[in-house]
Amino acid sequence: MVRDGAADRHVYRRDVDLFLKDGRIAEITPAGARPPQANEPVLDGAGLLALPGLVNIHSHPSTEPGYRGVREDHGVPEQQMTGLIERLQAFRLGEEGRAAAAEMAYAEMLRAGTTTACDVTVPFDGWLETMVRSGMRFYAAPTFASARWGMSAPQTVTWKWDEAGGIAAFDKAKTVMAEAEAHNSGRLDAMVFPAQIDTVTPELFAAGRRLADETGRPFSTHIGQSVVEVREMIRRHGVTPVQWAAAQALLKPGTVLAHCILLDEHPQIAWHTRKDLDLIADAGAAVAHCPQPFARYGLAMDHVGRYRARGVTVGLGTDCAPHNLIEEMRLAIVAGRLMSEDIASLDTGGAFEAATIGGAKALGRDDIGVLAPGALADIVLVDLAYPLMQPARDPLRSFVFHAADRAVRTVLVNGEVVLKDGAPVHLDPAGAMERLAEAQMRMLKDSEKHDYAGRPAEQIAPLSLPLSSG
Ligand SMILES: [Zn+2]
Repeated sequence: MVRDGAADRHVYRRDVDLFLKDGRIAEITPAGARPPQANEPVLDGAGLLALPGLVNIHSHPSTEPGYRGVREDHGVPEQQMTGLIERLQAFRLGEEGRAAAAEMAYAEMLRAGTTTACDVTVPFDGWLETMVRSGMRFYAAPTFASARWGMSAPQTVTWKWDEAGGIAAFDKAKTVMAEAEAHNSGRLDAMVFPAQIDTVTPELFAAGRRLADETGRPFSTHIGQSVVEVREMIRRHGVTPVQWAAAQALLKPGTVLAHCILLDEHPQIAWHTRKDLDLIADAGAAVAHCPQPFARYGLAMDHVGRYRARGVTVGLGTDCAPHNLIEEMRLAIVAGRLMSEDIASLDTGGAFEAATIGGAKALGRDDIGVLAPGALADIVLVDLAYPLMQPARDPLRSFVFHAADRAVRTVLVNGEVVLKDGAPVHLDPAGAMERLAEAQMRMLKDSEKHDYAGRPAEQIAPLSLPLSSG
């Protein structure tokens, strides 16, 4: 699959050779047109489909694997099903667990063909080093917030404000972003990330926006992700979160809005205005669409095809585990069709475009997400002979709807092999797995200390089946 000339779209092309130089694609020629020179390393691509590496514009690698087995069925009916707030106030993964979670998540990403990811987290020791070691390309997005969510009852969310703490977190984020960009791997960039639209003061939002403008870094925040958040913003400001963000001049090209599920027109909001989508589109802001966590609450964007048709740049992310952008593509397609009752809402080509060119555009780049001369050599090789890829009449459909990560064999970033025979070259997910399991046990045990009602984890998030003593 290669880029169609200068057009912003992918096309299939059979029997080609890709020549790489200095971490980039130098040339794409008909197979055998120019033999490799002596000493030129050759990777045999016979029987393989070459795809551009996927671009994940929103993820939480250092926490989400820690919620495996905890959050899939967890939600609060009184908060229109979201489990986001209850989970974050009760379950806190320690630093060691977060490092292990990140290592596991990066391995998940590589196995599923992601080569660039925006990693959104409160920074911790060793974070940048683990990103570098993975061999992937990253945007480090250290978050900062002026308030922390709490609860006083299932139907009552609280915001505990600490403005000085927010400023300190912003200072720390500035240091970490500069460290990331200065790293000599050349694979780390930075993203300015005030944590949530409802937890950051207008002043701190403005400071973050200014920093992004001055540095040219992408700017992002969580917005339109729960009914609770939308109602609270309307209570505070009389307008929806998107309208407030627009009034604060936060929306512009280079802004990535995660997740914009709950716009004014969404059936669960049904606010009287009809202008959120226009504001996003007219400002040239992008949306990080992460259908998985919302679908698990019974909630979906309404609908992804409409956002794209209105001209909004839509990229994809994995807001929860697994960090599998192929599964997100499939769910984006299916959820879009369910919400619109229209098969045209999103098709396979459109979803793949969102997972590659859409994400790249959201980050203001044209050198990733495509296979074209001059682009970075971030390449995913998929085994066409894998049974779920066959018959490979339309290999992209086989990949997205059938085989997914199971057929990914090799991943290159900057022309270097970072996934070989389906295994990450530089990461140790097996070791990380043990550390994460222990950290998750501690996190669950400590829920009684943190939870507003002092409940044990088994009560907040019961097992899917009861544990029989017989
Ligand atoms: Zn998120």
